[in-house]
Amino acid sequence: MSGPGQESCLLRGRESAKMNLNDRIAVVTGASRGIGRAVAEALARAGAGVVINYTSRADDAVAVAAGIKASGGRAEVFQADVSRPDQAAALVDFAVSTFGRLDILVNNAGITRDGLLLRMKDEDWDAVIGVNLKGAFNCARAAARIMMKARWGRIINISSVVGLVGNAGQANYAAAKAGLVGFTKAVARELGSRNITVNAVAPGYIRTEMTASLPEAVKKQLQERIVLGRLGEPEEVANLVVFLASDLAGYITGQVFVIDGGMAL
Ligand code: NAP
Repeated sequence: MSGPGQESCLLRGRESAKMNLNDRIAVVTGASRGIGRAVAEALARAGAGVVINYTSRADDAVAVAAGIKASGGRAEVFQADVSRPDQAAALVDFAVSTFGRLDILVNNAGITRDGLLLRMKDEDWDAVIGVNLKGAFNCARAAARIMMKARWGRIINISSVVGLVGNAGQANYAAAKAGLVGFTKAVARELGSRNITVNAVAPGYIRTEMTASLPEAVKKQLQERIVLGRLGEPEEVANLVVFLASDLAGYITGQVFVIDGGMAL
């Protein structure tokens, strides 16, 4: 049953839902290059203040922040190894002490240490799980405390299609990325009552340094499986993240969004 009053209420709801992130503050882990960089830049273009996290490449992170500031945006840089709980907590503290709040967390930092199962070293397993999975946990736990008090939040975890369909030579990476899917759904259930949405984005084959180092034969094989016939660009993943961070995505939580040009169909 809907009356005229309800209709205008719905209309108001539609009009007030905006893509702009003017009052929002975001932390993007691993934002010195690749997908994280594009996400930070896109969030800043939408109006958010952004903390650019990195672990080793300070010059790259500073350049990303400088670019955002030169375009009239707000950005600060913070070094933290997200696999370390103390450093992840310090990253969140930095966002709050610098900008006064934290609304959006993008768990993007990731590494690969590929190898076939029988040859995979303990340290390669531990490093990938530590950064890609535990890093997201470390950051989300610290950020959720802030978001719960504010009764608004967005946590977006960058998973991978490899976490959904697997990939030979990437048991550690696939396990971490699949782990992020379960983590996303569990935390979405925990935080929903506080108006915090938690979603995962699962990219396919995106043009970054991570994929540039793949052997040419593997690249060719991957590209042949992409329905749209080309690699994805970091900016295309960033567009989806900005949407999920915005008010427009306020009723979406616990979901995994594949963005792979149809590769894993
Ligand atoms: P990338 O170009 O290799 O960049 C990785 C980023 O993560 C860098 O900013 C790096 O910082 C940061 N990082 C690494 N270890 C870190 C740590 N311990 N703490 C904090 N930051 C750390 O990777 P990408 O291709 O953009 O990938 C970004 C995310 O998307 C990853 O989670 C990846 O698994 C995922 N993904 C990528 C693809 C793809 O095709 N490229 C596909 C699916 C999913 P420094 O610069 O300081 O080293």
